[in-house]
Amino acid sequence: MNFPTNDDIERIAAEILRMRQEYEFHTFWLGTTTKGAESAEQGIALKGDMNRRLGQCIEKCAPDLKARLHRPEAKFIITWPGGIVAFHPLPLFIAGRYLKFSREIPQSRWPCRYCDGLGCERCDGTGKRYQRTVEEIMAAPLLALSRAEGSKLHSVGREDVDARMLGRGRPFILELANPRVRSLELAPIEERLNREFSSEIGVLQMRFVEPGLLERLRHLSPDKSYRARVRCALPARREAVERLNDLRDLLLGQETPRRVLHRRPNRLRPRTVRWCRVANLAGGERVSEFDLTLRTEAGAYIKEFISGDEGRTEPCVSRLLGVPCDCVELDVLEVFCDL
Ligand SMILES: [Zn+2]
Repeated sequence: MNFPTNDDIERIAAEILRMRQEYEFHTFWLGTTTKGAESAEQGIALKGDMNRRLGQCIEKCAPDLKARLHRPEAKFIITWPGGIVAFHPLPLFIAGRYLKFSREIPQSRWPCRYCDGLGCERCDGTGKRYQRTVEEIMAAPLLALSRAEGSKLHSVGREDVDARMLGRGRPFILELANPRVRSLELAPIEERLNREFSSEIGVLQMRFVEPGLLERLRHLSPDKSYRARVRCALPARREAVERLNDLRDLLLGQETPRRVLHRRPNRLRPRTVRWCRVANLAGGERVSEFDLTLRTEAGAYIKEFISGDEGRTEPCVSRLLGVPCDCVELDVLEVFCDL
């Protein structure tokens, strides 16, 4: 197998440098794959020769470009013989915290249940059950400015569509695939999102982060606090409602809620309610509605802790008060973690 000539190296370097007309990158990494080497040693020697000479040639032609092993902004894989170049830009990772003020938009894309995302009459051919999502609203200006091909939202859990996300918001990392522009000013984008969509969402602390933070995000399972408006089907004794204030570290057994059984296997999970507080009691000695503020460990289902979900969550507020109760409004107040 022939080693690349100087002309080969210059041609490949030119092709790599031409990518800069379309894609912004300041650091790069080169890899070579070989086919038909006469021996393993020859293959290793060829890869070393290609990467060294090509790297030197690129750095000579474009002194602002730096070779980098650790998270380069662009990876190039050269196939030899032939010298075909494959280009892999590193995604952009943008972290922040989002708030959601609407009870009508989900966090991320939710496929239409009738066509499973293919598009049908019931979803007007969009394939979506909800036309707007937190992810799409946040990603739209970033996709436009970075000219990336797509986005993916990673977050520390998610709230129900009809629950608001308040307080300091929920930590997220938005991944933008194949961006053409990497130097974005995030502060004006954040400011614009907060101005234009103030009735639906809020965004805080937007910043670029290393991809390694994604791994940390995946392993977080923080406590959360909530405010729920509880409605009693029959008036509850005031004394019983106020006794909820005394609950500490109540251990629940929660089976998978009926409302999610169609997409999750049935399991019994132990979950702890750290504490509860009641406020805004409607009624006198007999209470018809009240606010329940509570802190739980990750993964607890709050609506089911209130209703009992037909015996699938024990104990529950309905059982503790002796009357059937329902959650009529839910807000997440705090997600207790920082990225
Ligand atoms: Zn559909």
